[in-house]
Amino acid sequence: MTPTRTTCPYCGVGCGVLATPDGKGGAAIAGDPDHPANFGRLCSKGSALGETLGLEGRLLHPMIRCSKGQLERVAWPDALDHVANRLQHIVAKHGPDAVAFYLSGQLLTEDYYVANKLMKGFIGTANVDTNSRLCMASSVAGHRRAFGSDTVPGLYEDLDQADLLVLVGSNAAWCHPVLFQRMLKNKQERGARIVVIDPRRTSTSEDADLFLGLKPGSDTALFCGLLTHLADHGALDRDFIDRHTTGFDDALARARSIAGSVAATAFATGLPEQDVAAFFNLFRTTPRVVTAYSQGVNQSAQGTDKVNAIINCHFATGRIGTEGTGPFSLTGQPNAMGGREVGGLANQLAAHMIFSPQDVDRVRRFWKAPRMALHEGHKAVQMFEAIGRGEIKALWVMGTNPAVSLPDADAVRKVLGKLELFVVSENVLSNDTVNSGAHVLLPAHAWGEKSGTVTNSERRISRQRAFLDAPGESKPDWWVVGEIAKRLGYGDAFAFNSAADVFREHASLSGFENEGKRGFDIGGLAQMSDDTFDSFTPSTWPVRASGERPERFFAEGCFHTDDRKGRFIAPEVPRLKTQTSVSRPLRLNTGRIRDQWHTMTRTGLSPRLGQHLPEPFVEIHPDDAAEAGIDDGGFVEVSTEFGRCTLKAQVSDRQQRGMLFAPIHWNEQTASSGRVGSLVAAFTDPFSGQPEAKATPAAIAPKSYAQRGFVLSRRLLVMPDGVWWSRVAIVGGHGYLLAHNLAVDFWQEWFVANAPCDDVAAYDDQAGAAYRAAAFANERIELCLFSGGFEEAVEWDVVKALFEKESVTVDERRMLLSGRSGDGLAGGGPIVCACFGVGRNTIHDAIKGGACSVAALGASLKAGTNCGSCIPELKRMLAQAPQESVSQSEPEPLTA
Ligand code: SF4
Repeated sequence: MTPTRTTCPYCGVGCGVLATPDGKGGAAIAGDPDHPANFGRLCSKGSALGETLGLEGRLLHPMIRCSKGQLERVAWPDALDHVANRLQHIVAKHGPDAVAFYLSGQLLTEDYYVANKLMKGFIGTANVDTNSRLCMASSVAGHRRAFGSDTVPGLYEDLDQADLLVLVGSNAAWCHPVLFQRMLKNKQERGARIVVIDPRRTSTSEDADLFLGLKPGSDTALFCGLLTHLADHGALDRDFIDRHTTGFDDALARARSIAGSVAATAFATGLPEQDVAAFFNLFRTTPRVVTAYSQGVNQSAQGTDKVNAIINCHFATGRIGTEGTGPFSLTGQPNAMGGREVGGLANQLAAHMIFSPQDVDRVRRFWKAPRMALHEGHKAVQMFEAIGRGEIKALWVMGTNPAVSLPDADAVRKVLGKLELFVVSENVLSNDTVNSGAHVLLPAHAWGEKSGTVTNSERRISRQRAFLDAPGESKPDWWVVGEIAKRLGYGDAFAFNSAADVFREHASLSGFENEGKRGFDIGGLAQMSDDTFDSFTPSTWPVRASGERPERFFAEGCFHTDDRKGRFIAPEVPRLKTQTSVSRPLRLNTGRIRDQWHTMTRTGLSPRLGQHLPEPFVEIHPDDAAEAGIDDGGFVEVSTEFGRCTLKAQVSDRQQRGMLFAPIHWNEQTASSGRVGSLVAAFTDPFSGQPEAKATPAAIAPKSYAQRGFVLSRRLLVMPDGVWWSRVAIVGGHGYLLAHNLAVDFWQEWFVANAPCDDVAAYDDQAGAAYRAAAFANERIELCLFSGGFEEAVEWDVVKALFEKESVTVDERRMLLSGRSGDGLAGGGPIVCACFGVGRNTIHDAIKGGACSVAALGASLKAGTNCGSCIPELKRMLAQAPQESVSQSEPEPLTA
């Protein structure tokens, strides 16, 4: 069968994917060798997409909550009539600002466009925001301040052509893995240097020539110090500054006042002076520099200033818009950029227009809109605060899970209960947001069923194409919004019959009265036929109606400001909004891990992806852990002013003293106490409205569980109260890792109550408080429980291998409760290489056996030879092994 060319639904790299359906609802997945973002590569998440296509847990029919509180299946016309009537009633009674949409960077551009059009042109409110507010809003605000438009100047090619790659607040090795592999290739083949700037020693930092582990929130000071250094060492591009920019003198004066020397910069950032000097020298003496930044910059209450402090240094050296140069925002989500193009943020209009009288009038005329929003709406955090105050009474959430991902997530859950109308467009029947009292569920297409476009971090528009039949009664989101618009009386303006229809209108608006004023212009695609849309190949914007297609922006100035000049910005003195205290002496940084995406609704379905880091954890510096009495592998209660979670402790000197790191992915469906969003402060950046997700004051305390264990089950289970648990997908079922203080008797009763069959084998040891049991049907293991000492959880990969079998032999059945494999050997251990399922124990054995480099591990185990995402971890394991086994060929880190 011919594969379908489509695009990965996860990060902003936007990799091309070849999907070949197997005719049974699944598909074989491969990287698209012709896609310019990835040239055939996929990371561990993209490679495992085929494991996420099942229908278990899918929302397949519209549902409405009945008077008894239950969700009941209804027909589409009834669901649509209900939503339209309720919206109409609320708008009539309370005005348009009583309604809000909360959208997602996972939506297609076409979905986003139609939702934005309905709200801003026809209902008459700009209360449309998106989870992209949590992702890259500070980059948008920084771009608009500096360039006059939200324009990424460069291309991925620049990462191949730069001689210096500066990564700020970006764990690209885990969060943009395919791009990071391109950077490493540049380093290996062209000798590019890599500088990593991050408070945390991430996997990305392991390939750095220079790692700057600065204090949280001090990035602005570092780049102010750099601007001062460039000015003091004759490294300014005076011609570029004078001809193409304004505000240089003020920005330099402010930079001098913040960090006027190497010593002052070192003091402000907590870095050694020689490291600061080394970075400044490298930047100054390397003409081709790309500074790539991500959530460590954006997710900050000073994020916009950080972005502008970086851009200032590129303006000052004229390093923008030419090959191998430029500031480069690495976008988190697959279509955050598309959302920005259609105006999916509450402070944008559409097609990169803003709420100026001229733009409002222009969009009104284009849409023939009866009720234009005239001013900005509530940004994400403020939107949920307005719900809490009772000002917003109707909320429609599409494709995102705010009850997990927003800061102060417990408060978010609480206010959702106040809504008069709470609609959720979703793929899944159950998640924390749906379970927060949604009144109406509308089944949406999932990846593999969707058809439309997405735009990646380099402004490249690609097609997501359907390769599976849409299951049940699921529908495209653009269709659902259009049906609501028709019921509200706006049928003529929403007469879209296909995603191509929507795209053509979106393209046409981008070119409408543009005349080169707005960077985002795809007017040249407005007349595209359906066939051309079907066969559309990945293309960067702009694509102007005149035929012009400049690839990069701003090398010759021509910014999108009124005077066409770029703006240096004088940043505020960097200061964290929150203070630590005696009771909360640490700062909590949150982020992503390598093999999971957002709240795991898709990656959580993949057994392969669940094996790398199966439990919610917190990284703690060894001194902080020792002070609090916390052991590596033990449990920690992390508390902030907003909430508390219990997480597994990872004691590591990769964490700086005084800082904690916890991943964002777990929620109430996947862990008993891992919803980290409930810990995060809801302080926001004054320009972008993006919340500070990297520095919430926090405290830690040990949590003691005497017993560990695991459960393997064919069906989802409800874990008993008082048990700490974490759930991952395993082949053929669900695996729960446990910690608890419950007695053997309890588990004996629990097992009998939950076993789906009578054929049970059990072993108990009351003295040692150990209990193991398995239930079989037709020689297959249906349920299995191990509970006991620390080692119980360690053995789970051996037992999992037996659980995965459709039938076990008599010998295997006998060996099962011993936790050892038939040959008596231990399992491979936690998975390190997700692509080839290679575990930690196997890698340790190979290193002991003489594999002394990443290449040798690849040759003997295949580990690290596909996507490369695990290579930093392989290097770390090699570095920790006895020196005689390890290759000495790795380059030495750069020092001053
Ligand atoms: S880097 Fe990975 S997650 Fe990101 S788009 Fe590519 S395959 Fe998907």
